[in-house]
Amino acid sequence: MRVGVQLPDGLKKKAFEICENLGSDVILSGESCYGACDLDLSLLADVDILYHYAHTEILKFGRVVYVPYFVDYDIEKVAERIRGIPEKEIALIATVQYCHKLSELKDVLEGSGFTVELKKGSERVKFPGQVLGCNYSALRDCKASAVIFVGDGTFHAIGASIYSGRKVYAVNPINFALINIDTSDFIKTRYLQVSRCVGLSRVGILVSTKPGQKRLNLALSLKKLALENGMKALVVYIGDITSEKLVNLPFDFYVNTGCPRISYDDYRKFGRPIITPQEFEYLLNLRGGIELDEIE
Ligand code: SF4
Repeated sequence: MRVGVQLPDGLKKKAFEICENLGSDVILSGESCYGACDLDLSLLADVDILYHYAHTEILKFGRVVYVPYFVDYDIEKVAERIRGIPEKEIALIATVQYCHKLSELKDVLEGSGFTVELKKGSERVKFPGQVLGCNYSALRDCKASAVIFVGDGTFHAIGASIYSGRKVYAVNPINFALINIDTSDFIKTRYLQVSRCVGLSRVGILVSTKPGQKRLNLALSLKKLALENGMKALVVYIGDITSEKLVNLPFDFYVNTGCPRISYDDYRKFGRPIITPQEFEYLLNLRGGIELDEIE
């Protein structure tokens, strides 16, 4: 049996250790693997089974097995940081590698007098409290007064704050730092990016070829809007969105219907503005403000 293996960047260095347990006929994917949205379909076509590591299923594909990769951490030390916040009604969220301990954390915090929400979101996520950079549905109808994000960095925590409208704290489960999240710089940056598109008329509407990011119908509807508003527009199919791939294209700016993190995290890498579908609608005066781009 031939086996394919897809690893995120953080695990690629361990490829020998991981592959040696999978038999002698193993092919490793060298493509990007930012999420389960990013399945290597070309490798899947040439193997009997594809092991996709460290993400949870987004789309159902036969012969794909998702292999979890959980990171252990000290619940009591995380809880100790949370006990210092003033809010007592909280919701818990985490990225996938830290989700496995949220239920235990909930029990510990409830034992300390907190009321704790821990809910599973849409079909795009698997575990209670799990969030993705493109999906915060675990916070849908959140009743808590504050949200605790357990994970690295602040990207997901900022997204959670904008999505839920709640106060958000990010607790790093490895070094136990607690950050009080402030979204104002992020929001200012997004309005600035939209303002750079004012008066521009040639728009490239990017559609990701990655199966869990592909939003062709959305792109087609945005193209229609662009044409109705006197712009020139083309839909562009693209895998990894890089500045090198865009450099020869004749557009003044881009609307990215693929992974929202490209617009939010990587916008500085592109010579032209790259905005989200919601931001494009705001540019066209079809929305009163900027909202978070989500993939359901
Ligand atoms: Fe993560 Fe982006 Fe894929 Fe969503 S679309 S799962 S944020 S890589």
